[in-house]
Amino acid sequence: MSKPRTSPEVGADGVAEPQPGLLIVMTGPSGVGKSTVLRGLLGSDARLALSVSHTTRPPRPGEREGVDYYYVDDDTFGAMVAAEAFAEWAPVHARRYGTSKAEIARLRAAGRDIVLDIDVQGAEQLRSVYPDAVSIFILPPSITALEARLRGRKTEDEAQLAIRLARSEAEIACAGTYQYLIVNDDVAQAVADFAAIIRAERRRCHRQLPLMERLLRETEQRPKP
Ligand code: 5GP
Repeated sequence: MSKPRTSPEVGADGVAEPQPGLLIVMTGPSGVGKSTVLRGLLGSDARLALSVSHTTRPPRPGEREGVDYYYVDDDTFGAMVAAEAFAEWAPVHARRYGTSKAEIARLRAAGRDIVLDIDVQGAEQLRSVYPDAVSIFILPPSITALEARLRGRKTEDEAQLAIRLARSEAEIACAGTYQYLIVNDDVAQAVADFAAIIRAERRRCHRQLPLMERLLRETEQRPKP
């Protein structure tokens, strides 16, 4: 009978060694369904954690402090920028959003793979600071579908809607520089594609050095014939 896997180092997908955590930068135009895809993904992968950003925008109905965002006023955000507390930050849709260095450190210390849902400007900054980051761009099946989704969720007034739609074209023009493109036409398919990318990234040789080192140590320690 095979022994149950009880080691805390064994992840849900059977990886047997501690590995340096993944930093997964996910971006895409507003309304493309990034949060929906993430919800599907986070529910099925215990090693994955969402980085919670700071924002100066007010909470939407149902959003929770520390879960969806850390909601701060302009002065607090400005003080954090001055103190270099952000790994990246950007003005988005007339508000400011940022990923704090403390948030990344907290999740890294907990041994989690981190996924960041951030805009194109922030993604650029993070990709230059962390060249090993995995970059994924979520695309809509069409621009018409994107506009319909944005209008359908009814969370923005007309002015905010116009800002978001105007930005989406410039954002989509950057998609070609990302490592992976996922089209969010069918959410279940988009989640499956995302999970497949993460699974493959965890299998990259350079992320499995602890496993290689252990096997080589074992080889060295074995009595030679
Ligand atoms: P929303 O207001 O719809 O939650 O987010 C608006 C946009 O801000 C989304 O495209 C989202 O990816 C982006 N965003 C959220 N958090 C951050 C962050 O920490 N940094 C940056 N640069 N963008 C963010």
